[in-house]
Formats: sequence, C-alpha cells, structure tokens
Amino acid sequence: MATYNRVALIGLGLIAGSMSLAIRRGKLANEIVGYARSAETRDIAREINLVDRVVDTAEEAVKDADLVVLAVPIGAMGPVMAAIAPHLKQGVMVTDVGSVKKSVFDAVVPHLPEHAHFIGCHPMAGTEHSGPRSGFATLFDNRWCLVVPPETVDQGQLDRLCDFWKGIGANIEIMDPDHHDLVCAVVSHTPHLIAYTMVGVADDLRRVTDQEVIKFSAAGFRDFTRIAASDPTMWRDVFLTNKDATLEILGRFTEELFVLQRAIRQGDGDLLFDYFTRTRAIRRSIIEAGQDTDAPDFGRKPTKAD
Ligand code: NAP
Repeated sequence: MATYNRVALIGLGLIAGSMSLAIRRGKLANEIVGYARSAETRDIAREINLVDRVVDTAEEAVKDADLVVLAVPIGAMGPVMAAIAPHLKQGVMVTDVGSVKKSVFDAVVPHLPEHAHFIGCHPMAGTEHSGPRSGFATLFDNRWCLVVPPETVDQGQLDRLCDFWKGIGANIEIMDPDHHDLVCAVVSHTPHLIAYTMVGVADDLRRVTDQEVIKFSAAGFRDFTRIAASDPTMWRDVFLTNKDATLEILGRFTEELFVLQRAIRQGDGDLLFDYFTRTRAIRRSIIEAGQDTDAPDFGRKPTKAD
C-alpha cells in the first residue's frame, strides 16, 4: 500500500535513483516525480524511465508532493531548500539523505515553512558509483537507515517515514544529530579519508605505482582504491561539514597508529598479535550481523591478475 501519494526526488543520482526503483518495487507511492540540476541528468532519467515524471525545476517537482526527498550533495541542501520552500504543500514531509546530519539541520530548518515537517535520514548504503545510471532497487535491503528527527516531532509523521524506509528494505535506528555524526565519523567518514590518503601515498611513490600497484593490487590496496574512487563532491562536503567528529576520530586513529608503529619498531609481536586478534573478532561480528559476506575476498571471483 502506498505510504505517500506523490514523492518528489530532488537530485537523481545513486541514492535517489535507487530509492525510486525501491519505491516502485514496494508500491510505496502513486507517483514519483524527479528533478536534477543538469539537463543531461534529466534526459538520462527520462531515457531510462528512472522516475514516473521528470520536471525541469525543483519548484515544479515539489508541487503537491506529500514527501520531498533532498538527495543532493550536503553543501547544496540549504540553497535547494530555500528555492523549494515557497512551493511546498500544506503538511508535506521534507527529508534528506545526506551523510552528515547536524549541518543539514542547520542549513535546512531555517527555510522550513510552518506548515511543513522535516526529519533527517541517512541510508547507510552506497557504492563508489554516482549519477542517474548507478541506482539499483536492492541497494537498501537489510541496510540501516539512521532516522534523525528534530527535538519536537509529530510521532505519526515519524512512524509514517519509518514505514516508508522499511518498505524500501532498510532497518531503522533513531538517533540525534550529534551522535549520528560521531558514529558516521567512525564507521564511514574517517575510513574513507584513510583510503583516500593511502591511495594518495601510493600515487606519490611513482616508482612503485607505475606498474606494480595495478599488477599486485589484490593485496589489500585494491579495496582502498575502490573506496577512494567515491564521488569527490560528496566526500569534500562530508569532511567540510562533519569537521569536529572527523578530527576527533582522526586524532584517536593517529594515537593507535603510533602504538602499532612503536610495536613494529620494537619487534613487539605479542602486541601486534593481540591487536589483530581483537580486530578480527570485529570483522566476525559484522558478518554475524548480516552486514557483509564471509566469502573469501568479499565474494569476488578470482581474476587473471590474482
Ligand atoms: P550523485 O549520484 O552524485 O547524485 C547527486 C545528485 O545531486 C545529482 O542528480 C546532481 O545533479 C544533484 N546536484 C549536485 N549538485 C547540486 C546542486 N548544487 N544543486 C542541485 N542539485 C545538485 O550523489 P549520491 O551518491 O546520490 O548522493 C546524494 C546524497 O546522498 C549526498 O548528500 C550524500 O551525502 C548522500 N549519501 C550518499 C551515499 C553514497 O555512498 N553515495 C550514501 C548515503 C548517503 P546533476 O547530475 O545534474 O549534477
């Protein structure tokens, strides 16, 4: 049964595209209207029938919509919200899918008309691909969607939005914005920064990278390169807007790195063994929670390079 009559997707990239396909699969809306900034993206969305109706302005997309989803880079949330605010229907639910929550609240809520509701969301699912052709209906299946309501929230509106995400395939956890940003700094943002750094280090060592990085990349580095291929605009915005939590976790990371560096220098095998035993157990618990596969090499098929 449809949770919302008309859903407007602002932005038609990986997340909005996947949402549209999952909304259709679950019959969660009677109509999905989409808008993207560039004519090129709108044309592709029409060509592949990504949403039911593609329109040429964000204002037109939100007209008569019951749910509006802001699926644009974090830095664009405020300007987009300012543009659509005068055109929102009475009682509309506005939500976003941004990877940082405190700054999205700060950017969006000041523009929110009194007759509209806002609840932040962050589906914890993605790939290194972006754009309208990258979406797929199963992206959110059995993944977490962190739902971040304002301090005073209409419980009926919150339940309805949670039901919508469950219909899309996600599991729900409710959080406040600061806690969300700290959790994501640990599990997503800092790991991405480390991957970007590691690939940058290899790129600096041109002597090694010319042939060997590609040839022998099965040995761990390949997984860093996949993460470091993620969209530069999105990740620039994540670090600009989740600055405090990322710096806090980076500080802790650096301390741990020095502990391991010292153990290597002093030949302290016991410390290294105990450390790696502890981290191996964390990997097992992620698999037991159904958040990854225990197939060797993340389920990849062997390639010739292997
Ligand atoms: P994407 O594939 O790059 O799509 C972004 C969309 O936003 C495109 O349709 C783009 O339009 C539009 N856009 C870009 N800049 C804009 C601007 N200044 N004003 C208006 N529209 C603009 O990105 P995505 O991966 O779907 O990410 C969208 C949001 O989801 C981000 O806030 C991100 O933090 C969040 N998120 C991403 C992931 C992930 O792994 N990718 C996971 C969870 C949450 P054009 O194509 O016309 O440029």
